Amino acid sequence: MIAIDQKGYYGEFGGAFIPEMLYPNIEELREQYLAIMADDSFEKEFRQLLKDYVGRPSPLYLAERLSEHYQAYIYLKREDLNHTGAHKINNTVGQILMAERLGKKRIIAETGAGQHGVATATVCALKGIECIVYMGEIDIQRQAPNVARMKMLGAEVRPATSGSKTLKDATNEAIRDWINNPEDTHYIIGSVVGPHPYPDMVARFQSVISEEMLWQLKEHTGKEDPDVIIACVGGGSNAAGAYYHYLNKDQVRLVAVEAAGHGIHSGESAATSVLGTKGIIHGSRTLLMQTPDGQIVEPYSISAGLDYPGIGPMHAHLIASGRAEAVSITDDEALASAYFVSKKEGIIPALETAHAFSALDKIEYDSSDVIVVNLSGRGDKDLATFIKHYDRFHK
Ligand SMILES: *Cc1c(COP(=O)(O)O)cnc(C)c1O
Repeated sequence: MIAIDQKGYYGEFGGAFIPEMLYPNIEELREQYLAIMADDSFEKEFRQLLKDYVGRPSPLYLAERLSEHYQAYIYLKREDLNHTGAHKINNTVGQILMAERLGKKRIIAETGAGQHGVATATVCALKGIECIVYMGEIDIQRQAPNVARMKMLGAEVRPATSGSKTLKDATNEAIRDWINNPEDTHYIIGSVVGPHPYPDMVARFQSVISEEMLWQLKEHTGKEDPDVIIACVGGGSNAAGAYYHYLNKDQVRLVAVEAAGHGIHSGESAATSVLGTKGIIHGSRTLLMQTPDGQIVEPYSISAGLDYPGIGPMHAHLIASGRAEAVSITDDEALASAYFVSKKEGIIPALETAHAFSALDKIEYDSSDVIVVNLSGRGDKDLATFIKHYDRFHK
C-alpha cells in the first residue's frame, strides 16, 4: 500500500526537517491544507480554472506512428497543451487558491530554468497578487526568455548571488525570505519536494492528470488501467500526477525516468536513483546525490527541469520498495528521442519529456500492452538546444 502517513512519510522517506523559524508557516499549512482542498468553494474554483484557464482536460492521444514503431499501444497524455506549456500550472493554480484562503498577500517562489517561475508569475497575474521569484544569477543569464516572461507577467525576479548561483542558492534565498515574512507570504514550491505537507499537496494538485487518464483510457480501450505509465522525474511532480490514481493498482507498472547526463558514472549526471543515498535536502528525508561527508553533489543534465540532486520522497519510496522501475537516460539518448518523436508525431516535446520517450527503447513490454507516456511539456523552450545539436543527429 502506497500512502503518506500523518507525519508526512512515505515509508522511511519524507517528513519535515525545517529551521525552528519556519515552524509556524509549515504548521499553519499542514493543519489547513486538506480541509481547504476539501472545501466546496475551493474545489469549484480549482476545477473551473483548470477547465477555462489551463484548458483541461488535456487530451489522451493514441500515437499511431509511434505505436507502429514500438509495437505496442502508445498513448500520450498531452500536458504540453496546457496554458504555459507544461504540467506545472496545475500546481501553481492550486497553490494560489490555497494562498488566498490562508489570507496571504504575497507569493514567493524559486526557479531554476524559469518554468516554475513563469507558471507562478502567471497565476499571480491572474489573481493580482505580488510575486517575487528567486533565481540564481547564472540561471538568469542562461534563461533570458523566461526572465523576460516573468517580468512581463509582473513578477520581480531577484538574483541569488551566493554559492554556485543556481537553483539551490535560489531556494536558500526563498526560504530566508519566508522566515522574514511569515505572516503575509506563501511559498509556492514547484515539485513534490520540500517539507511535509508540500510533497503531498503538490501530488494532489497534479493528480488531476491520472484522474483524467482513468476515464480517457476507458473511452479509448474499454479499461481504466494501462499496463505501463512512463514519466520523467526531476523533483517528480508530473510523475506523481500521472501515477497518483494507479499507485495501489499493482498490475499497472510505473516507470520513472531520470537524467543520466553524460553517463551515470561520468561525474556529470542527475541519476539520483542509482547514485543517491539517504539524506535530507530542502526539508525532507529522501535519496540525494551527496559526498560521503554529506555535501550535495552538483547535478548535471542537458535538461534544466531534471537537473536536481534529489527526488521527491514519494519517488524515493516507490523506487526503494520496488513499486516503480527507474530508468536513466543520457543527454544524447534524450536528444535522439526528441528529434524522432517530432518527426513521427508532429509533436516537439520538452527535453525533460524526451527522456521519458527514450525509456521506450529500454524497457520490456508486450505487443498487446497499453503504454501511457506523460508528455509533461512542449519543446519550444528548448529550441536553442535542439538547433545546436541538430546536425550531429542528422548526418
Ligand atoms: C519542470 C519540468 C519537469 C520536471 O519536474 P517534475 O516535478 O519532475 O515534473 C518535467 N517536464 C517539464 C516539461 C518541466 O517543465
